[in-house]
Amino acid sequence: MKPAAFAYARARSLDHAIMLLGEHQGEAKLLAGGQSLIATLNMRLSSPSLLIDINGIAGLDSLSVKNDMVEIGALTRHVTLERSSDIARHAPLIARAMPQIAHPAIRNRGTIGGSLAYADPAAELPACLVALDGAVDISGPQGKRSVKAEDFFKGLFETSLGPHDVLSAVRFPAASARTRVGFAELARRHGDYAIVGLAAAAKASGEGLSDVRLVYFGVGEMPIRARKAEAVLAAGSVDDAVSALDLDPPDDIQATGAVKKHLAGVLLRRVATQLMGTA
Ligand SMILES: Cc1cc2nc3c(=O)[nH]c(=O)nc-3n(C[C@H](O)[C@H](O)[C@H](O)COP(=O)(O)OP(=O)(O)OC[C@H]3O[C@@H](n4cnc5c(N)ncnc54)[C@H](O)[C@@H]3O)c2cc1C
Repeated sequence: MKPAAFAYARARSLDHAIMLLGEHQGEAKLLAGGQSLIATLNMRLSSPSLLIDINGIAGLDSLSVKNDMVEIGALTRHVTLERSSDIARHAPLIARAMPQIAHPAIRNRGTIGGSLAYADPAAELPACLVALDGAVDISGPQGKRSVKAEDFFKGLFETSLGPHDVLSAVRFPAASARTRVGFAELARRHGDYAIVGLAAAAKASGEGLSDVRLVYFGVGEMPIRARKAEAVLAAGSVDDAVSALDLDPPDDIQATGAVKKHLAGVLLRRVATQLMGTA
């Protein structure tokens, strides 16, 4: 199918993009990598009257590590993160997740901002950002604000972005010597969206772990923390953590809720060995 007709504008700056969004009152969409948006246009699930291309906005694809924080511009492409030595060193969870996202052709164009703004419940990066206790920077008509990742995701493909907002950057603490991360997902074929996935972060503490964050994707409308299992895993028992898994996944086209819950336990065992440094 072909998309419905739309106009095209190339934003020169964040302010220009915000102005164009305001002028078109909910009828315009931002175009980043286009890897999700163009498919929805082609299937006529969305028919905006204007596409605002943000690819020409200078500085939106920056990547820096300063004051123990990693900051990634919204337009940074998946492939850049996958190949970055800074990401490998300071954001090992993102480095582990990256090869699981789609296929190389999609990673060449897709952006971190587009992935977070799209908020697919089975996507890797939203869960990683929650696991890293990160935040997103949002620019809108009222200026700039920062929203914690846990508050940013509101529901199925729903975020706290307003209709005239642009997600401009992502920030999270850089890994320290005590940081432990784990990542695993199950998909029918490599590169498919996950049936269930788990992004995790913790701090090494003596022989065990503290500050455990277990964030599942593909098990609900948005990234979901398994808080009871986090507490039990920090206390040391993987078997008890699996029994304590506080998830209630709904059925979807990939699997029943019961199968997903079982797979969530399988992933927890795999990720626990990564967190404990035994994998
Ligand atoms: C076959 C296929 C398989 C895929 N598999 C996976 C997968 O396994 N895991 C995964 O995570 N993703 C997967 N994707 C999606 C891919 O990662 C996309 O790149 C990503 O979801 C969207 O990023 P984008 O830059 O292409 O955004 P676009 O498609 O350009 O935009 C997506 C949405 O976000 C909005 N948007 C974009 N940038 C901003 C911004 N800065 N501020 C506010 N709103 C913005 C757009 O208006 C649009 O509504 C897959 C895609 C395809 C086609």
